[in-house]
Amino acid sequence: MTNQNGRKRLSAAELVTVLSYVRTRANLARQKGTTRAVIDELIVLLLATAGLRPHELCALRIGDLPGTHGEMALWIRDTTGGVARKVHISEDLAERLARFVRSYRNGAQQEDLLLESERGGPLGYMSLYNKVRRIGQEAAIGKLSPAALRRTYIQQLYHAEQDLRYVQEQAGYMSRRSIAEIVKICCDAAGDGANQPEQAGNKLAGMDPGQTSICEACGATITKGTGRRIESGQLLCDGCLRYFRRA
Ligand SMILES: [Zn+2]
Repeated sequence: MTNQNGRKRLSAAELVTVLSYVRTRANLARQKGTTRAVIDELIVLLLATAGLRPHELCALRIGDLPGTHGEMALWIRDTTGGVARKVHISEDLAERLARFVRSYRNGAQQEDLLLESERGGPLGYMSLYNKVRRIGQEAAIGKLSPAALRRTYIQQLYHAEQDLRYVQEQAGYMSRRSIAEIVKICCDAAGDGANQPEQAGNKLAGMDPGQTSICEACGATITKGTGRRIESGQLLCDGCLRYFRRA
C-alpha cells in the first residue's frame, strides 16, 4: 500500500519479515558484542509494536522504562517533563529494553537517554529516519519510514482492541481523522469511539485516500495548507516540524 509518500503501512507478512530480520541481526550482534543491530531492533520494536512518534522515541529516558518504574508501559513525557501518557507494551519488549540497559547502558542514570547516536549524544530525527530506511532496504521490503511502522502498530491495535478511544490514547491523542484513515473506517464511526469494523471501504468523509498526504515521521494525515517538505524531501506535519527544528 503506497502513494507518493512511499509505503503507508506494512502488511502482516511484511511486518513479520522486518521483525525477524532485525531480530536475527540483533542476536548475532549480541553474540559479537556490537551495538548497531541491537539499536536497530529496539527502534523497529518501539515504532512497530509501541507506536511511538520518532521524537518520542529519541527522547525516551532510562527512567521512562518498565525496569525503572515497574509498570508494563513506557512513560512519554511532555515538554515540561511531566508524564503525558503511558504506552502499554508487551513483556517481550520490556525484557528486550531491560536486557539492552543491562548490557549496553550499564551505569546510565534515570535521566539519561535510552538511545544515543553512534557518535554519542542524542539520536536525531534524520539518523533515525535513515536507519529505518536502510532496514527496509536490507530486509528487502523496499521503502520504509517511521510513519509506516507506527501506522502498522495503530492498525493492528485497532483490529485487536476494536476501541478507537484506547487506540487514540496509545497513539498519543492522534486525530480521529488520522486514525480513521489508517484503519479504513468512516469518520462518523470514529466520532464517538463506536466499535465499527472496517466496512466503509474508502469512503472517508471528505477524503480520497489515494490523494491523502501523510507525515513521514508520525504518520498523521496532513491537511491542506499545513506541513512542509524538509530538505531531504520528506513531508512532515506541523507537529513533527516543531521537533525537527529543535533537533
Ligand atoms: Zn508528524
